[in-house]
Amino acid sequence: MLRNIWNDGGMRIAEHVVDLIGNTPLVKLNSVADGIPGIVAAKIEYLNPGGSSKDRIALKMVEAAEKEGKLKPGGTIVEPTSGNTGVGLALVAQQRGYKCVFVCPDKVSEDKRNVLRAYGAEVVVCPTAVPPDHPDSYYSVSDRLTDEIPGGWKPDQYSNLNGPDSHYETTGPEIWRDTEGKVTHFVAGVGTGGTITGTGRYLKEVSNGAVKIIGVDPEGSVYSGGSGRPYLVEGVGEDFWPSAYDPAIPDEIIAVSDADSFEMTRRLAREDGLLVGGSCGMAVVGALEVARRDGPDAVVVVLLPDGGRGYMSKIFNDAWMSSYGFLRTRLDGSTAASTV
Ligand code: PMP
Repeated sequence: MLRNIWNDGGMRIAEHVVDLIGNTPLVKLNSVADGIPGIVAAKIEYLNPGGSSKDRIALKMVEAAEKEGKLKPGGTIVEPTSGNTGVGLALVAQQRGYKCVFVCPDKVSEDKRNVLRAYGAEVVVCPTAVPPDHPDSYYSVSDRLTDEIPGGWKPDQYSNLNGPDSHYETTGPEIWRDTEGKVTHFVAGVGTGGTITGTGRYLKEVSNGAVKIIGVDPEGSVYSGGSGRPYLVEGVGEDFWPSAYDPAIPDEIIAVSDADSFEMTRRLAREDGLLVGGSCGMAVVGALEVARRDGPDAVVVVLLPDGGRGYMSKIFNDAWMSSYGFLRTRLDGSTAASTV
């Protein structure tokens, strides 16, 4: 099932950057896991060519749409996304000659919009302060553009089951192979739910249910029983139940606060050399809780979806952290006066 992109005996030169999606490595968490029994290993998804786990779903969603005749030569991919999914789709679109139009709310930083433009995508900005059913909302605008643009196709990562399938076909088998079947727990943040559903389903099947699957979400999100109350960690948590998520897969959901997620994100960069996004810190808090509880024989694999470069003005900015009361340790290592 796993692809080997290198020809035996040939030069190790990939045909296209899209062929480098997946096969990300596992690395042990050291400093942040100090004193915790068992092995906690992180799967480093920022080493995907577009910088996140979303490259995997982008590739699979496009391949499936081509097969089903939903995306035809010269077509245009229209998706409401402000970040990782857009980058993944843009990479695959370039390879195959599709255009991309990404619709994002105006709260998304100019830096993030420019990343999408750098990959050649068109970015349409919509007002944040309107309800989802308003004609100017970014959901409505993306639906309208999909209808209006000839050859327009909307992947819709929230309902597209090729998202979880991509993780079933790649992320799950990679973890099983790289741990030689010794993985005991898989931990991942839950956004659309695609990662936990696809990877979890594979690991449960291959281990006859032995591998425990643990979802992590921000306090307030529906997966851990919340009402959709706002949180600041990006890319995870929902106020509705996407069809990409199968609630039968996780054995447990752990809720983590923004403050704890961001503190751990900063520690991962400072102590373990892993400059990653806020949902990674969140997932690691969950993984360490599981490892602490389940003891020395545990081999916990935690998936880290993206890198930290996109969060420099927030999580890695002392003033921003302080303005929300999250600052415990400054970037220079000193302890902040007031803590939450
Ligand atoms: N972290 C980040 C930064 C993400 O962009 C996403 C995807 N929304 C996730 C975690 C969660 O992954 P999934 O959508 O597969 O649940």
